[in-house]
Amino acid sequence: MNCVNLGLKVRLYPNEDMITRINQSIGNSRFTWNKLLEEYQNTYKMFKFHGYNKLKCNMTTFNAMLNMLKKEHDFLYLSESSSLQQVYRDLINAFNKFFKGKASYPRFKSKKHDKKSFRIQNNGNIKIKDNTIILPKLGEIHYRTSKKYREKLKNVKINNVTIKLENGKYYALFNIETEIPEFHKTSEFVGIDLGMRTLATLNNGLKIANLDVTYEENMIKKYQKRLSRKKYNSNHYKDTLKTYWKWIDRKKNKINDYYHKITTQIVKNYDIIILEDLDIKEMFQDSNKSRKLQRIAWRKFVEMIKYKAQIYGKTFRQISRWYPSSKNCSECGHYYKDLKQEQTEWKCPQCHTIHDRDINAAKNIQKQGLTDLMNETMNLWDRGDSTVILLSWESTSP
Ligand SMILES: [Zn+2]
Repeated sequence: MNCVNLGLKVRLYPNEDMITRINQSIGNSRFTWNKLLEEYQNTYKMFKFHGYNKLKCNMTTFNAMLNMLKKEHDFLYLSESSSLQQVYRDLINAFNKFFKGKASYPRFKSKKHDKKSFRIQNNGNIKIKDNTIILPKLGEIHYRTSKKYREKLKNVKINNVTIKLENGKYYALFNIETEIPEFHKTSEFVGIDLGMRTLATLNNGLKIANLDVTYEENMIKKYQKRLSRKKYNSNHYKDTLKTYWKWIDRKKNKINDYYHKITTQIVKNYDIIILEDLDIKEMFQDSNKSRKLQRIAWRKFVEMIKYKAQIYGKTFRQISRWYPSSKNCSECGHYYKDLKQEQTEWKCPQCHTIHDRDINAAKNIQKQGLTDLMNETMNLWDRGDSTVILLSWESTSP
């Protein structure tokens, strides 16, 4: 059994009065974000001007700022207090990512473009009933989910809940702690190559296709066009908006179903899963649209495998992105420098093996990942750490 944090999303059915309160809380969180960011920037400038050391970007700083803000704006008391503290936690995270060079400078949030949500910590004030959820400052809200999940919600530890407005619908996303049995060990390990034409190729030759959502995308475009021709907020407009949202949901659900299915299968089948490390920074710099979209798909795939491996007791590994997985012959190790970008098949000039480009790369990724793992294990053994026992790789070494 593995104790893990999981997300559980349920649809909410708030009445008019509650909708007002939820929207107020969403607005308050956005307002707080923008005000704290502004305040931090101003104080930072002032500090710098007077020659003080750098202004600390931590809980103490922001908590003081939040308390000041609350004194000036009464309506902030309509929010559950932990939801506003969550705002500065998110802001600190955003700054830390920026300081580490992993993200751009935190920006102000707009009502139109940013996510509409807020998060409440569970201090024992969140209650789950059969058909309703009791939330602090909001009251009792109807919700709907399957019987299985309803029972689960009543019996697990809830860390926090995020209330979200998404495509005209309200949701509660619970962060829960639950016990999950690990998947059976299979003593199998796999190297996976991520590609453009094919989403993923396994070293055993299995290819996982890219998901085709052209139909859903065309429908979304169609209704988007119709929307633009209708009078804003008229009844026709509202009807079309519903259909438009429906197609957005369908596309999202189709993508999620697909990725969940393939990644669960991989984690079930293999004890050690080895992939390439994706350079996240490069993703934002890539101007080619289809490459950019494909990188988003890879990231989704990799992230899912990573967290599922963790949950279900498997080993997830990434090898350096700069390892030349495509150009090395997986049979004899010859480095074939003349391999072209568009070549899907090639013959090794040294051992004459004919390679499928992606399968050859997957084989190399598997080999390299296992070598890395072996070296690491040896190092740990050298240091006398006998508790580290790598899965049974000896019995199935390549
Ligand atoms: Zn060769």
